[in-house]
Amino acid sequence: MKVLKFGGTSVGSPQRMQEVSRLVTADGKAKLVVLSAMSGTTNTLVEISDYLYKKNPEGANTLINRLEQKYLQHIQELYKTEEYKQQTEIFIRDEFNYLRSFTKVHFTSFEEKVILAQGEIISTNMVTNYLKECGVKALLLNALDIIRTDKNAEPDFLYIKEKSNAVLKENDGYEIYITQGFICRNAYGEIDNLLRGGSDYTACLIGAAIQAEEIQIWTDIDGMHNNDPRIVENTEPVRQLHFEEAAELAYFGAKILHPTCIQPAKFAGVPVRLLNTMAPEAPGTIINNEFQKGKIKAVAARDNNICIQITSSRMLLAYGFLRKVFEIFEAYKTSVDMICTSEVGVSVTIDNSSHLADILDNLKKYGTVSVDENMTIVCVVGDLDSNNVGFETIACEALKDIPVRMISYGGSNHNISFLVKTEDKKRTLQALSNTLFNS
Ligand code: ADP
Ligand code: ASP
Ligand code: MG
Repeated sequence: MKVLKFGGTSVGSPQRMQEVSRLVTADGKAKLVVLSAMSGTTNTLVEISDYLYKKNPEGANTLINRLEQKYLQHIQELYKTEEYKQQTEIFIRDEFNYLRSFTKVHFTSFEEKVILAQGEIISTNMVTNYLKECGVKALLLNALDIIRTDKNAEPDFLYIKEKSNAVLKENDGYEIYITQGFICRNAYGEIDNLLRGGSDYTACLIGAAIQAEEIQIWTDIDGMHNNDPRIVENTEPVRQLHFEEAAELAYFGAKILHPTCIQPAKFAGVPVRLLNTMAPEAPGTIINNEFQKGKIKAVAARDNNICIQITSSRMLLAYGFLRKVFEIFEAYKTSVDMICTSEVGVSVTIDNSSHLADILDNLKKYGTVSVDENMTIVCVVGDLDSNNVGFETIACEALKDIPVRMISYGGSNHNISFLVKTEDKKRTLQALSNTLFNS
């Protein structure tokens, strides 16, 4: 069975929902379909939560009413029959009354997660009803019964594997199984989520858990481009990526994929295909276990990094120095991304600033500490095996006019990372594209 995930734009209007239904039923084969919320809905739910945090129920109610009107209109356009219009209208009105009930309670992050979950709950109900109206044997599965995270907020893969296989076995014989992306329960049984963009992660977790034939991520662009098309001109689709390359690109900012969604597919060996709902015939990108030797594939960038440098003359020949430094980051559950060392110091980057002050206080015991904020990691990905001489020279040459704060090369065979000021991001990405792909 294939697992197909459709993102926010792909289900962003009644017409798009109809198109998705057509796509998933075209070949008559059974499929598991993971849906995001309609585009814009999760952002609105975040805004509603912000109003409620700020104790502004009127602001929240205005947004809730406006969003409800939009959905009521969608229902009129989506369904042909009065039966399905009415049935779905009752569901939508209940949903929005439920949202209104939060304007009266003490608001915490617990309630926020419940509110954020409603976008996917609504979209999956709408599409399931539409498929049923079209006579398709469709079954809505509740992702809250399948996807769970553990005490470290990581997916509990054994639980997911057991639940997803069991639910399919118990409900054999349907053509389309639909479930919500993004939402889950946490280790305490509370409603939670896999962070923004998390529907990709749901699809890859389920695809790996059921050992799917293929995981397809359907979005609004023809596959992974060789640079960020929102920032750089003349980007082009990359037709094939190794799991490692795709994982690096996702982790380092290629928004088309959730940062960690490739891991479960890689471990299970299930290929991932990126496809375009707006142009279903376009080839997209296949992500699998094959390496194209000696090829630089793509560039991605991730903002909001903080660079911390610790210098100490005592580091000279001192064993145990790095361990002490990293223990401080570990104690504050802060992961380190880039690392560069010299005889007298070490620079690292982090993207989680929640414990920055404490981390800096502790680091000061070991040397002089300096901090640069608003930094961007730019990552060049491809087959960068050191036997293929010269790629790092070409990448560095492309950046000859840009101040680079750190360079990381050799940690894997797939990645060179540069740390630059965020204000220099655009010209860094453009310079790399011009040199690596357009020349
Ligand atoms: P969805 O809602 O379907 O999950 P996203 O907005 O999360 O879609 O991801 C698709 C978007 O990712 C594209 O429209 C594009 O603007 C952006 N994007 C950023 N980097 C890349 C890249 N390297 N290749 C393709 N798309 C990218
Ligand atoms: N709806 C969620 C979001 O907007 C999850 C997703 O679309 O992947 O982040
Ligand atoms: Mg996305």
